[in-house]
Amino acid sequence: MPLGNPQATVDHAQNIIELERVSFSYGAQTVLENVDLAVHRGDYLGIVGGNGAGKTTLIKIVLGLLKPTSGAVRLFGHDIASFKDWSRIGYVPQKATNFDANFPATVLEAVLMGRYGRRGLFRFLTREDKDLARLALEQVGLWPQRGRLIGDLSGGQQQRVFIARALAGGPDALILDEPTVGVESGVAGEFYALLKRLNEELRLTVVLVTHDIDRMAHQAMHVACVDKTIFYHRSVDEYFRKTHAEAHPHDHPAPVSGSAGGGGR
Ligand code: ADP
Repeated sequence: MPLGNPQATVDHAQNIIELERVSFSYGAQTVLENVDLAVHRGDYLGIVGGNGAGKTTLIKIVLGLLKPTSGAVRLFGHDIASFKDWSRIGYVPQKATNFDANFPATVLEAVLMGRYGRRGLFRFLTREDKDLARLALEQVGLWPQRGRLIGDLSGGQQQRVFIARALAGGPDALILDEPTVGVESGVAGEFYALLKRLNEELRLTVVLVTHDIDRMAHQAMHVACVDKTIFYHRSVDEYFRKTHAEAHPHDHPAPVSGSAGGGGR
C-alpha cells in the first residue's frame, strides 16, 4: 500500500497558510527561527518534532494567539494582522486541554457553539445553524448521541464532538494539536480515518501536530519536521524512504566509486 494519501488533491495555486521567515521568542529564549511554510488547499500536513521543538508555538502563531517576533504570516492570502474570517480555520486542541468534563452541555449544544463564530455570541441561532450542526454531527457519526452530556462520552467520542464543532463553522482548514493524546489507542485509529475522509471527501485542508509518525504515514500527504525551524518538508513517501535509507544503509548501495561525495542534499 502506498504511503500517504494519494486520493486527495492539492491545489498548489492556493495557499491556505503561509509563513515567511517567522521567528518567535519567549523572553530571551528563541523558540522558532526563520520558519518558512506553505500549506496549500486540500493538503494534509503532519507536523512532527520532539518535545519542546516549537510545534505548539507554531500552531499558536498560525491561530493568531501569538505574534511572531519577526516574519510574515498570511492566511488565505491575507496578512494575519487584518485577517477576520476565523471561522475558515477550525481548531481542535489536545483532549486534555479541551474542556472541563463536568461542563453541563449536550453534544448538540457543544457543536452549536461552533456556529457562534459565524453569528456572534449574542445572535439567535437559525435553522441553517441547526442544519449545519446536524450535518457536522452526521459527518463524525455522532448524531444519535446528540442529546448526551459530553462528559459522559468516551475520550475518542469527545474528540469527534470537537471536530464536529469545528466543522459546524464551515472551515476550509482544520488544525489539530496532538488530538489523540489521552484517547484510547484503538479509538485513535478511527479518529485518523475520520480525518482522512474529511480531507478526501470535503477537501478540507488538514494540519496535524502529532508524535504518532507511523499512523500519520498512512494518512498525511506531507510531513514537516520542526526543531526550532522547519528542517524538512516533503511528501510522506519521500520522508519514509529517507528514514528507511538512514536506518538500513545496506539496502541502499553506495554510489559507484568516483561519484561519491557529490550531489547530496
Ligand atoms: P512542542 O509543542 O514542540 O512541545 P512548544 O511550542 O510547546 O513545543 O514549546 C517550545 C519551547 O518554548 C519549549 O522550550 C517550552 O518550554 C517553551 N515555552 C512554551 N510555552 C512557553 C511559555 N508560555 N512561556 C515560556 N516558554 C514557553
